[in-house]
Amino acid sequence: MTKTKMCEFCAVWDELSNLTPLFEQGKTNVSYYCDRCLPDVKSNLLNLPYSSLFTWGKKEVKK
Ligand SMILES: [Zn+2]
Repeated sequence: MTKTKMCEFCAVWDELSNLTPLFEQGKTNVSYYCDRCLPDVKSNLLNLPYSSLFTWGKKEVKK
């Protein structure tokens, strides 16, 4: 079974291996972003004053 998650940016469901997780300090839920949105999300984040609270994770390796 393939795990899928929704991209928080475009709200499109994709395989977990195509999504990059974004962790926010102090929060347990993880946001996922697809490759199409990743550049936009990253540049948006850089403009946030609290961007240091966010950490990008690694994409899950396809098995
Ligand atoms: Zn997306």
